[in-house]
Amino acid sequence: AYNFNPGPAMLPLEVLQQAQEQFVDYNGIGMSLMEISHRSKEYEAINSETQQLLLKLLGLESGYQVLFLGGGASTQFATIPLNFLKPGKVGSYIITGNFSEKAYQEGQVVGEAKIAASNKAGKWRSLPKQSEIELDPNSAYLHMTTNNTIEGSQFSYIPETGDIPLIGDMTSGILSRPIDAKKFSMIYAGAQKNLGPSGVTIAVIRDEWLQEEPKHIPSILRYTTHASNSSLYNTPPVHSIYMVNLVLKWVRDQGGVVELEKKNIAKSNLVYDIIDASGGFYSGNIDADSRSIMNITFRLPSEELEKKFVKESQQHNFVGLAGHRSVGGIRASAYNAVPHEACQALAEFMVEFQKNNG
Ligand code: PLP
Repeated sequence: AYNFNPGPAMLPLEVLQQAQEQFVDYNGIGMSLMEISHRSKEYEAINSETQQLLLKLLGLESGYQVLFLGGGASTQFATIPLNFLKPGKVGSYIITGNFSEKAYQEGQVVGEAKIAASNKAGKWRSLPKQSEIELDPNSAYLHMTTNNTIEGSQFSYIPETGDIPLIGDMTSGILSRPIDAKKFSMIYAGAQKNLGPSGVTIAVIRDEWLQEEPKHIPSILRYTTHASNSSLYNTPPVHSIYMVNLVLKWVRDQGGVVELEKKNIAKSNLVYDIIDASGGFYSGNIDADSRSIMNITFRLPSEELEKKFVKESQQHNFVGLAGHRSVGGIRASAYNAVPHEACQALAEFMVEFQKNNG
């Protein structure tokens, strides 16, 4: 299958094979990793190695903690304001799609939340420029989504926020390209796209932001609790974290984010080039300067043709190409693990489909 699923998404074959080999008997201990304590030396080694690998791949050698959390990236929408939105302060949000809107709504539940910029009126086509961001100086933080999974856009710059801490939801873009992670006070990502299977959410938080314990919220919801216990306060999703460990080693062996970005640009261009050369048969949902290298979204001349496209694509072994139910159209999610050949095959299928239906 050519797997273009948006998430849970394709994992590198080598990772799945290695996991299969170790599944029943982990490194000769006579048991599966899933059957032993999360406080065992075997698991603790995975826990700390995974934290170090991620920091290194993000270019963050020190000054940050890596947390393994439950509840998906959606839980972060709530725990961010719970932890960081102090009374009298404002949580600021850049709204660039469905998920950033959800983050903003959760901020409103907890305290005062403000929209610093939004491209909703323009149907998400082009991301806000730095000059369009109106950041309240009283902000506790500015929250942004670096890659918009459903809409298919990605920021080409990191907003300047002065002294105001920046938070990035990187669920669908983490490790797809180099990004100056030091500009963020917090990065988070559900694992199920570029990091591993679902079940664990990764948060990377600046040490300085973990000094004060937010005693007004339950311990389990405090980032400080997880940080001071190396993410072993409660039982972590051991298997998911183990899989993330394998994926991170795979990323490293691919040459890290620099090499992956080159591959991802080449892969996504295979499809974007067909869209641009189709004379309007295929139309991209996002303007060229804001296009995502992970989630490629486009429309066909009618919904009927879109249904036909999806149906025929399935007959040709393509999986996961229907756009998100909220926007329709087509979406090809070409995360790190999706091979060049899959995008090549999709480009060829698109040309053929236009020939027969254009
Ligand atoms: N943020 C982004 C950018 C996403 O793409 C997703 C899921 O696709 C989420 C948040 C929500 O993640 P979860 O399902 O892990 O809560």
